[in-house]
Amino acid sequence: MKFVYDFAEGNKDLKDLLGGKGANLAEMTNLGLPVPPGFTITTEACQQYLRNGTHVDGLAAEIDAHLAALEEKMGRRLGDPADPLLVSVRSGAKFSMPGMMETVLNVGLNDESVDGLSRQAGGNDRFAWDSYRRLIQMFGKTVCEVPGHEFEKALDDAKAAKGVRDDVQLDADDLRALVTAYKKVFAKHTGHDFPQDPREQLDLATEAVFRSWNADRAVLYRRQERIPTDLGTAVNVVAMVFGNLGADSGTGVAFTRDPATGEQGVYGDYLSNAQGEDVVAGIRNTLPLADLERLDKRSYDELMQIMATLEGHYRDLCDIEFTIERGKLWMLQTRVGKRTAAAAFTIAAQLVDEGVIDLDEALHRVSGAQLAQLMFPRFDLSSAPEAMTRGIGASPGAAYGQVVFTSARAVEVAATGAPVILVRRETNPDDLPGMIAANGILTSRGGKTSHAAVVARGMGKTCVCGADEMEVSTSSFTIGSVTVREGETISIDGTTGRVYAGEVPVRPSEVVQYFEGDLDPANANDPLVAAVHRILTHADEKRSLKVRTNADTGPDAARARRFGAQGIGLCRTEHMFLGDRRELVERLILARTEAERNEALAGLQPLQRADFLEIFREMNGLPVTIRLIDPPLHEFLPSLEELAVKVAVAHEHGRRVEHDEQMLAAVRRMHEQNPMLGLRGVRLGLVIPGLFAMQVRAIAEAAVALAAEGGRPRPEIMVPLVGAVQELETVRTEAEKIIATIVGDTNVDILIGTMIEVPRAALTAGQIAEAAEFFSFGTNDLTQMAWGFSRDDVEGAFFWRYLELGIFGISPFESIDADGVGRLVRIAAEEGRAARPGLKLGVCGEHGGDPDSVHFFHEVGLDYVSCSPFRVPIARLEAGRAAV
Ligand code: ADP
Ligand code: MG
Ligand code: MG
Repeated sequence: MKFVYDFAEGNKDLKDLLGGKGANLAEMTNLGLPVPPGFTITTEACQQYLRNGTHVDGLAAEIDAHLAALEEKMGRRLGDPADPLLVSVRSGAKFSMPGMMETVLNVGLNDESVDGLSRQAGGNDRFAWDSYRRLIQMFGKTVCEVPGHEFEKALDDAKAAKGVRDDVQLDADDLRALVTAYKKVFAKHTGHDFPQDPREQLDLATEAVFRSWNADRAVLYRRQERIPTDLGTAVNVVAMVFGNLGADSGTGVAFTRDPATGEQGVYGDYLSNAQGEDVVAGIRNTLPLADLERLDKRSYDELMQIMATLEGHYRDLCDIEFTIERGKLWMLQTRVGKRTAAAAFTIAAQLVDEGVIDLDEALHRVSGAQLAQLMFPRFDLSSAPEAMTRGIGASPGAAYGQVVFTSARAVEVAATGAPVILVRRETNPDDLPGMIAANGILTSRGGKTSHAAVVARGMGKTCVCGADEMEVSTSSFTIGSVTVREGETISIDGTTGRVYAGEVPVRPSEVVQYFEGDLDPANANDPLVAAVHRILTHADEKRSLKVRTNADTGPDAARARRFGAQGIGLCRTEHMFLGDRRELVERLILARTEAERNEALAGLQPLQRADFLEIFREMNGLPVTIRLIDPPLHEFLPSLEELAVKVAVAHEHGRRVEHDEQMLAAVRRMHEQNPMLGLRGVRLGLVIPGLFAMQVRAIAEAAVALAAEGGRPRPEIMVPLVGAVQELETVRTEAEKIIATIVGDTNVDILIGTMIEVPRAALTAGQIAEAAEFFSFGTNDLTQMAWGFSRDDVEGAFFWRYLELGIFGISPFESIDADGVGRLVRIAAEEGRAARPGLKLGVCGEHGGDPDSVHFFHEVGLDYVSCSPFRVPIARLEAGRAAV
């Protein structure tokens, strides 16, 4: 096996083996671009090193051979005292992990070769000693874990002694003295002298880069970004070029387009007389890249040309690192650059216009998650003050409210109707009530997988976490000299992580205005809206999955239709039993005689009919799946505790409260230990005479009414919680009779099907399909019952810990568990269709709007997904992406 590749031997498709940096350095080399020569030690060598703690056999010999070839090419030997070759030792994993791992520059310098380097540079002592002190500093920090601030302090001391502010104002003698000081720091912390043998430096630096794969921050970053833990990093050994040789040298970074907006132009920063790490470290003010044209026109022109070449070659936005050594341009890195959600859409559309990619490819370049970001409400920043501080944008959105510091207070204040922001150092499961009550959550500690972040994302609540400039107490927080007390208002932006004093007004995003029909994409002089329109239209043309919505009201149905829904996949009827209808429901539940029960049902029926008619009208011509009532009926009654207290208090005062007493008895009678596994769904229909019949009648009558208006109703009646075909058959027989009497010879057609949400239903789908014209996977309950997790309790209680431990990478309620729950879906789809060819299959759980889940459902071959109105465009986009 081969563990070392010369740059000329690799290419951009070998990222697994060579890492992103190495693969792209190889690609640029083979494009004939000016890349300093070098070689890459593979990720496999790293994996073996991390497993065994030693280098793989033969690695040393391979490095020897490649180093010899490099020395040959450069006409210099590594660390040669007379005329040294210097190299950088650079990490580079398959996925970019910015700033997470390590790089050491100027390897090969020692007490002797520093003079050789000076002579190489025409007697430039200052440059040579500056390079040497950088090596000791980077090597010390990275390879030997010497605390970086010790070196920084020595540097500050040197500047203070000289009375200067800038590194470049230190001369050769100052830097020589600094090297001595650095060596002392090094020896103090490591117990030995800075290694003088160049080859030993190279080997130690290589091992340190390997080890940096497992540094805490790298591990944390990978967990957050869901990067697998076993990939390892490659090591790139690259001949040094010097940007710190004087005013005709320098270093910079550039983008081929604006990564924030996608606009074409000259974007980047340049720093003259500096080495690479200075730009990122921000130790001196950089110049805008455009200024390079004035400083060094030849290099500038060449750079522009190379950027055009790279864009043409990678067919995408690239970011690059370059160095100019005495007027000669060198390319040190390129990759397809990260970008904002808005830029992803506009760049993809621009590249289509330029004929670089086609629309299928454009679809692959954007994602549902990015579209979701573009749909969150925005702070109207024209009137926003400067941010007070900034944390990690953990759950997007824009929220404002009164600051509160405890969960209990959040609940109290929210109960008055005022918006609140819960501010905590960090949250724990006890804070859940407050988190639910709050409009937004702000913490000073923890990252994207902290309790606050996970729970907030699960609830779709705005959250900023890890704002570590804040000192949080139980009654105020301070940032520097500013103190914010309970009751004062702040605004938090869960996308950018910014925190503002006061109430920053919000507005719907442009993209939402477009979906609402308030912005015409043809007229909008907004390239983003035009790009979203174009790419989404293409997704619609390509996708085989239809997208429906979950909606219970006319207005929701209408909005979803504007957002592109092709029907309703889930209309819950229980919401129709709330408000002033609760009384009728109570009468139904408390009925002692058939006559009383029928009276209550007769009261509910016209109300239900009107509800359905409104929805059918909004969805005229499109299918509407109505779920018969599902939740346990006691959810419509007052709570046991509340009633018991009320009755007890009344009795104490010697009062009789007959109604409450009856109600209390009923609630006691109906009490269940596990209501979600109790009397609900189809079981209600089988136990309470007339309940389902009333709903079926209301549906059929509403359909006939719309047909009479000339409309085209397409109702689908869905029976929840079926586990055995006999349950469904019983309901179906009764429903068919009712429908026949109402529909008569009108052309109204009503389908009857079932939800598949109990594991037994999935496993007996072949039988159930005999009685069902469609299946709709209720993946929320299916997940709950397959895992034995109570959906209402687990997220705040322990999921954060499961995520921390990596038991799953994402909550199975958020993204379908393809191996387990997904297997049930697959079995039911296959066996259902085998029993009834053409059986219509859909999904109505939350998963219908989750990008990864949409791809899964496409692959299983379902007909549609259904999701909340705001997720409809996201599901359309992802269904299109799954199909191309
Ligand atoms: P990161 O992945 O953190 O950007 P890099 O390996 O790219 O780390 O290196 C850090 C800095 O050092 C970059 O600015 C890079 O351009 C510069 N650099 C790396 N290798 C060389 C080299 N051989 N000659 C000059 N500068 C280099
Ligand atoms: Mg870099
Ligand atoms: Mg359910």
